Amino acid sequence: MAIARIALPVAVYGEFDYWVPSGLSLVEGSLVRVRLAHRARVGVVVGLADVSEIETSRLQPVTEVVAGFAPLPADLLAVARFVAGYYHEPLGQVLAQMLPPLDREAGPRRHATPLAGPLTLTAEGLAELPQRLARSPRLAALFASWRAAEDSVIAEHELRALPSHVRAALRGWLAAGWIEPAPDVPPAPAPHEPNPEQAQAAAAIVAAQGRFAPFLLQGVTGSGKTAVYLAAAAAAVAGGAQVLLLVPEINLTPQFERRVKDALPGRSVVTLHSGLAAGLRRRHWQAAAMGAADVVLGTRLAAFAPLPRLGLVVVDEEHDPSYKQQDLVRYHGRDVAVWRARLRGVPVVLGTATPALETLLHAQQRRYDWLVLSRRAVPEARSPQVVLADDRTAPANEGLADALVAAIGQRLTRGEQSLVFVNRRGFAPSLLCSSCGWQAGCPQCSARLVVHRDAGELRCHHCGHRARLPRSCPDCGNVDLFPLGHGTQRLEAALAARFPTARIARVDRDSTRREGAFAAIREQVHAGEIDVMVGTQMLAKGHDFPRLTLVGVLGADNALASADFRATERFGALLFQVAGRAGRAGLPGEVIVQTRYPDHPLFAALARNDYDGFAAALMEERRAAGLPPFARLALLGAEAPERAAVERFLAAAQQRGLAIVREQELDVEVFPPVPSALARRAGQERGQVLARSASRGALQRFLARWREDLDALPARGVRFALDVDPAGFS
Ligand SMILES: [Zn+2]
Ligand SMILES: [Zn+2]
Repeated sequence: MAIARIALPVAVYGEFDYWVPSGLSLVEGSLVRVRLAHRARVGVVVGLADVSEIETSRLQPVTEVVAGFAPLPADLLAVARFVAGYYHEPLGQVLAQMLPPLDREAGPRRHATPLAGPLTLTAEGLAELPQRLARSPRLAALFASWRAAEDSVIAEHELRALPSHVRAALRGWLAAGWIEPAPDVPPAPAPHEPNPEQAQAAAAIVAAQGRFAPFLLQGVTGSGKTAVYLAAAAAAVAGGAQVLLLVPEINLTPQFERRVKDALPGRSVVTLHSGLAAGLRRRHWQAAAMGAADVVLGTRLAAFAPLPRLGLVVVDEEHDPSYKQQDLVRYHGRDVAVWRARLRGVPVVLGTATPALETLLHAQQRRYDWLVLSRRAVPEARSPQVVLADDRTAPANEGLADALVAAIGQRLTRGEQSLVFVNRRGFAPSLLCSSCGWQAGCPQCSARLVVHRDAGELRCHHCGHRARLPRSCPDCGNVDLFPLGHGTQRLEAALAARFPTARIARVDRDSTRREGAFAAIREQVHAGEIDVMVGTQMLAKGHDFPRLTLVGVLGADNALASADFRATERFGALLFQVAGRAGRAGLPGEVIVQTRYPDHPLFAALARNDYDGFAAALMEERRAAGLPPFARLALLGAEAPERAAVERFLAAAQQRGLAIVREQELDVEVFPPVPSALARRAGQERGQVLARSASRGALQRFLARWREDLDALPARGVRFALDVDPAGFS
């Protein structure tokens, strides 16, 4: 009897045996439907055999092969096995991460691609739509005027003016691939001739075609890294290869997609990210798998796209924290991309202005080729001037330093744009009673509730808990409650009060929740209809605002004082990025940072535009503390409704860990359990045990054994997960 070993997306290690009905032809990598515990599941065949250890009468048959899907290629199965082994997760879970939503019943519930302008008709749409609209005069008229419009583009404000049933129809068009996001910026000026550095970098990458060659491409914001990627990609595609291009976030940066398409005319560029409608994501995935797509542009999940002719891998903004997945399989998209390039023997380019310390160390130790773009591609663009506003000596007015207020005033007079960056949404991070000191806390979490004044609510940003804004203190009855600290909403209000005629836009997750809202704001900013933007890190990602000459940074001290060892690195990278946004098109830029630590070396480095100096100082701290990239970490996180249960489980886990280290004489430390930084979340008590080693191999041997033992520990009501190479301590 033919037996198929099938990996299924369940939290159980090992594969499941099914018998293969005659007439069903399966190979390794086939996608199949089976039943498991009375539920239909999609799995992947990872082995074929003649016998099973399970009694034949107890085996179930494979129900069917998933129609229309070729088997996964061998190299992708190899990547899946490697990822499952490295992160100590079941193979079936890893494979489920790789696949687009297939399962009618169990597919992930993704929100559809937002209907946001500007949109343009695709070639497919131009061909398909005319015959489908015969019976819908309203849509036919829209289509006709759209096709006649310049560039066949419909803008966000036109889109919003359409009646809802037309918008509903357009959502269908978007899902079908008949329309797609259009450039939201005026067409870029003709690309500059590559400067010698850019030409050299591209030539080095092209020369490495056909072998594994990792590159760090380091270049300040505006130095033209994208032009280097695109030159290398064009060469690879011209040679018949497929290119995998990873970016941290696609929805926020549609202009990047446009640039890729413009640089590769006549080539097929498809996107892969979780925001795509299921049908579209399946089609793009298949286009990649069939070799029809020349370029796959996507977020971390695209690191697993099937690419039979893969010839080049590019990871843009390789330092970005969003490459690390924080649940299920906790993989790092950049690391997976490098492994893929190694397994396939192709070059991989990691591009950034602010390399992650891990990547920088590889480059310093010459495991990666280090390409540097030291000058800005637009020659007249200069690095911005950095000014520190000392929050100790100059008490800020409604959170804003006098120097920042004055600088914004100047920009308004000159008709230039300003950006105020603060990484806190809401009105104020907490609500305080002036009489007894009570602060509003979340009943489910060890966290303060955030004041959302517009909604008249207190909200928890960890679990979503909401409560009405109280009129008086629940402890002492005092009615004098005041909001403590400054979120984006409060700063927006303060700026509006100070500059009543300024046009101010707030950009954060609350203000952009509505479909198309972010695109609308971006359109206004580019049209010069916005003077001041207030927002969170959404504003830091890859936007080029031509009249922006001032960036104000608030809340810097939260990152600098954080207990998380990566907080300073992340904040530093963000700061260099936002600073790079100021003064890009020949207008001189200025960055004003408010801080109580003006002597922090980060700011001196920022003023010199010296990321390398900043990174070198951080690197020394990490070396001294025995932290990554000089050590490997794994974090065992556990949670349960009762603190005692978490503590019991983690204590037993540490004891098991110590025993393994002794038995196997491994160079691994296993630290005592501690509460997580957020000790309670959504009613769950949380804690963690850290394992550390200077050797990746030793840590991996340890984890393989520990993981098995953890499954055998009594863990009543305790949920736990291993995080290899954690993004931080949370
Ligand atoms: Zn009180
Ligand atoms: Zn909460």
